[in-house]
Amino acid sequence: MVAREETQDPTLLSEVDGVHAVSIPLPGYSNLRTANIYIVGHGPVTLVDTGPKFPGAFEELRAGIERAGFRLEDVERILLTHGHLDHFGLVRSLREAAGREIPCYVHAEDRWRVTAEVHHDEMWTEEADRFMAMVDMPAEEVERVRKRFELFGLLCDPIQDVLPMEDGDVFQGEDYRLAVVHTPGHSAGACCFYEPERRILFSGDHVIGHITPNPFVEISRSRLRDPQYRSLKAYLDSLDRLSRLDVRLVLPGHGEPVTDLAGLLAGYRAHHEQRKEKVWEALRRDPRPIFRLIQDVFPEVPEDDIFLAVSEILVHLELLIDEGRAELLDPGPPATFRAL
Ligand SMILES: [Zn+2]
Repeated sequence: MVAREETQDPTLLSEVDGVHAVSIPLPGYSNLRTANIYIVGHGPVTLVDTGPKFPGAFEELRAGIERAGFRLEDVERILLTHGHLDHFGLVRSLREAAGREIPCYVHAEDRWRVTAEVHHDEMWTEEADRFMAMVDMPAEEVERVRKRFELFGLLCDPIQDVLPMEDGDVFQGEDYRLAVVHTPGHSAGACCFYEPERRILFSGDHVIGHITPNPFVEISRSRLRDPQYRSLKAYLDSLDRLSRLDVRLVLPGHGEPVTDLAGLLAGYRAHHEQRKEKVWEALRRDPRPIFRLIQDVFPEVPEDDIFLAVSEILVHLELLIDEGRAELLDPGPPATFRAL
């Protein structure tokens, strides 16, 4: 993710009736600033995301729900913007505290991310090993990535009972209507929720004010419905979809509310164009596997973000291949690419 200069006014949300935010600090992940949970309306009271299972996060969530004038037991529905742990990590804690299985919805494409088996035996698949060989990730780096994935697994409780939702579904309440807008890219099942009366968009990690979200490469491609799925292509198409909505206020999964959606989307597009050119120039200098492009594209990347760097290079390379500006030279493994 890339930091941006502009910040937004956090008091914007106080002007919106019937929507409350709970912002949980994320120690160790300061670039995300906060994990935001939104409490929407009455009859039924709906949560958009739950935050991660960080120490103290559940107590913060409980306090935020009470500040909004509700009790935990009042929460009747949970909508997940996507299946990343910092968004669904506290679903099980909420259910346990409420003493019942609060219905929880996630897009079908992200279901596998939140269910139990993925966070145990299947957390690291053969597909992941094949992927690492394809990109030419050295063994010690693979080990580091694997450890990091394991660590992430501790920041959430897997949940078995999730309900599917699809683009166009509408979740209705006494004083609100949330329409599901499927916006694949950051993850294949990422969704925004659009409230047309108030012209609010709950954007998850698809739109964030202070950083550019990552369209992560999908390693576990066998889990996807569409074998042709390309994260960045999907992400840019999803931005186009959003630009057609009438939005006054964006409430993101991290950081502060955003008012200038059009300006932000234009900035995202320019960012990805620039990065794509950087990948192309590096390949033009020297055809090579993806891991060996890091030294040119992200020379200063911290050790912990190596996988992120690989993901960023790969998704931009996919776009270059689609545009006929790069090609696979040798399938390997490792796969070697060249610029055209
Ligand atoms: Zn995410």
